[in-house]
Amino acid sequence: MPKVWNWQLGRGMEYPYDAAFPKRQFAFVFNINRCIACQSCTMACKSTWTFNKGQEHMWWANVETKPYGGYPQFWDMKILKLLDEANPGGQVWNKSNGSTSSPQAGSAQFDGMTIFEAAKKKLTPESARVLGYLPEDHEWNSPNIYEDNPKGIKGKKYELDKEGTELPIHKTWFFYLARICNHCTYPACLAACPRKAIYKRPEDGIVLLDQEQCRGYRKCVEACPYKKTMYRGNTRISEKCIACYPRVEGTDPETKGKPMETRCMAACIGQIRMQGLVKMNTNGTWAEDRYNPLYYLVHVAKVALPLYPQLGTAPNGYYIPPRWVPRPYLHQMFGPGVDAAIERYMNPDRELLAVLQLFRRSNMIIVSYKFQEGPKIYEGTLRGKPVSIYNDTVIAYGKDGEELFRTTIDEPIHERPALHANSI
Ligand code: SF4
Ligand code: SF4
Repeated sequence: MPKVWNWQLGRGMEYPYDAAFPKRQFAFVFNINRCIACQSCTMACKSTWTFNKGQEHMWWANVETKPYGGYPQFWDMKILKLLDEANPGGQVWNKSNGSTSSPQAGSAQFDGMTIFEAAKKKLTPESARVLGYLPEDHEWNSPNIYEDNPKGIKGKKYELDKEGTELPIHKTWFFYLARICNHCTYPACLAACPRKAIYKRPEDGIVLLDQEQCRGYRKCVEACPYKKTMYRGNTRISEKCIACYPRVEGTDPETKGKPMETRCMAACIGQIRMQGLVKMNTNGTWAEDRYNPLYYLVHVAKVALPLYPQLGTAPNGYYIPPRWVPRPYLHQMFGPGVDAAIERYMNPDRELLAVLQLFRRSNMIIVSYKFQEGPKIYEGTLRGKPVSIYNDTVIAYGKDGEELFRTTIDEPIHERPALHANSI
């Protein structure tokens, strides 16, 4: 198998095809700390793309309650178990072995096996490209199973911790994990397709499935570790998230020719989502683009981390981890950068606090931002530490350098007129 560079793992890895990277890559950051599981994103996607006969079980965008929820059920536990069986005890990050060949690799290297590497050990020859499994029909039946079910006390059924608790870590906990296709840099779905029906667009890295080419073998469903390709029984072909590409490319009439964020992003009530396009280097790392908010959150502030990077697909969805959850759980889900990311998120500097205000002030894709310092408006303590708040301004710019909006740290207060004081 050819060798490719995976900066999320801090090392090269095997992948069935030679590396080829788009000019710009569709990417997104979700701030888990803000998600309220309203499912507006889920329904925005469903009502746009998967409302037809035969698509009843299809939720390209979903929000599941961790640790127990999952769509399809237990998808992550199942693939992690398969990897562990292929490489018992070896699925570890080595902090002392951080690669220096890319500044984006971080300080740790993944020493375990990816789904591509483990496939050689585990699978039969005819499907040996990717380690995966095909969920059974019933596993797709309950997309929101275990919603709001917290982690209980081990060995005691229906019992939760009865003591009150405080940050940093809760004893009784759950969190909402919003998910869409990650439009991976090394897509497992693409690698596994014997028909070459799945391709990655060179202009924006969006991963699409050509329905004319697909014959419904479901190799992509088996291979995608995030289970974001889905089989449609009445057409006998597979389908997947298309990243609302007419909006991203600005060809949807609503966009008026400018790049616009996807439906699930635009619908987000909790303002947890930001999506955009990042410039790529020829080796698959992100080209430096200091004032692109996604670049800033992932590579400068380093508060947003990939979901299960150890799987090896180099997903382009990044998450600000939930700060109340026990760290071992988060380490296995987001890798070794968790502690530093949470520490920075809980004690943000002025620029990070400003960039966090960019989320969902507009549906247009933010290409760059400018940070402007303002006056001090508060001084006090937060969790025992001194804290000062400044009324800084952040300005968002679009594709042609036009100003999309500007906003301040201090949010304006709108008073409801007395006439309508009690109405909505
Ligand atoms: S998340 Fe799955 S379906 Fe999406 S690009 Fe990655 S491997 Fe393919
Ligand atoms: S719309 Fe936003 S806040 Fe609501 S469930 Fe989706 S990601 Fe969470």
